[in-house]
Amino acid sequence: MTTGTAFICATCGTQHAPSAAPPASCAICEDPRQWVPAAGQQWTTTEALARRHAVGWREVAPDLLGCGLFPDFGIAQRALLLRTPAGNVLWDCVALIDPATIAIVRALGGIDAIAISHPHYYASMVDWARAFGCPVLLHEADRRWVMRPDPAIRFWEGESHPVLPGVTLHRLGGHYAGGTILHWSAGQGAIMTGDIASVAPDRRHVSFMWSFPNWVPLPAAEVARMGAVLDGLDFEAVYGAWWDRVIPAGGKAAVRASVARYIRAVTGPGPLAD
Ligand SMILES: [Zn+2]
Repeated sequence: MTTGTAFICATCGTQHAPSAAPPASCAICEDPRQWVPAAGQQWTTTEALARRHAVGWREVAPDLLGCGLFPDFGIAQRALLLRTPAGNVLWDCVALIDPATIAIVRALGGIDAIAISHPHYYASMVDWARAFGCPVLLHEADRRWVMRPDPAIRFWEGESHPVLPGVTLHRLGGHYAGGTILHWSAGQGAIMTGDIASVAPDRRHVSFMWSFPNWVPLPAAEVARMGAVLDGLDFEAVYGAWWDRVIPAGGKAAVRASVARYIRAVTGPGPLAD
């Protein structure tokens, strides 16, 4: 029986395995893709988070509900609950799960599987998995970044993994070796990309970085490889990691143009050249 408190990093929102005292450091934030605040590592707990934040819900599209913390916490990502005839999938995760959220999600039929794009959104995935008795699907290549191991976590290998009919995970790599996107075939198709292919503020492009906060790009060849994977999927909409980062239509052409622009930007002649 593990005792102690599952401390949550206040910067990246990652919940750690229970311990009597806060961990000495957060490996996710010590990694050069993230950052430790100038004031030093800070921790919080589920109880403290719940006093200052609530999990808020919004409809993003038909059969697609977003949920995130209000006010913002950590990286401020929102998760997505996909509702399909075969069951519900939670894409990405947030740092808090509260009683209202458990009641709301149960009323919607629960969660059959949680899938997460990359370690920055592992968040409190174990709490969510336990609340709904479901597995968490993570890519094997990012196993070392799991800060709270749990039997609910199932690692998948290779380049793609079916979750439910119409819902498939694809390894894109880039930002993290196991960087994953979710393809949903409902309607005209959609991809959920976290910030593995990150929707830009103009909502007409995506971009790709090894580290967004520290401004470290990816090699052109890696982005070309990622672009080829994306080109093999059929989709109209692209859902990024935040509420306002959505390309509702024309997503495939936007991604194709974004990959070409990225490669021009980093290898020449520059982003605006034809
Ligand atoms: Zn952290």
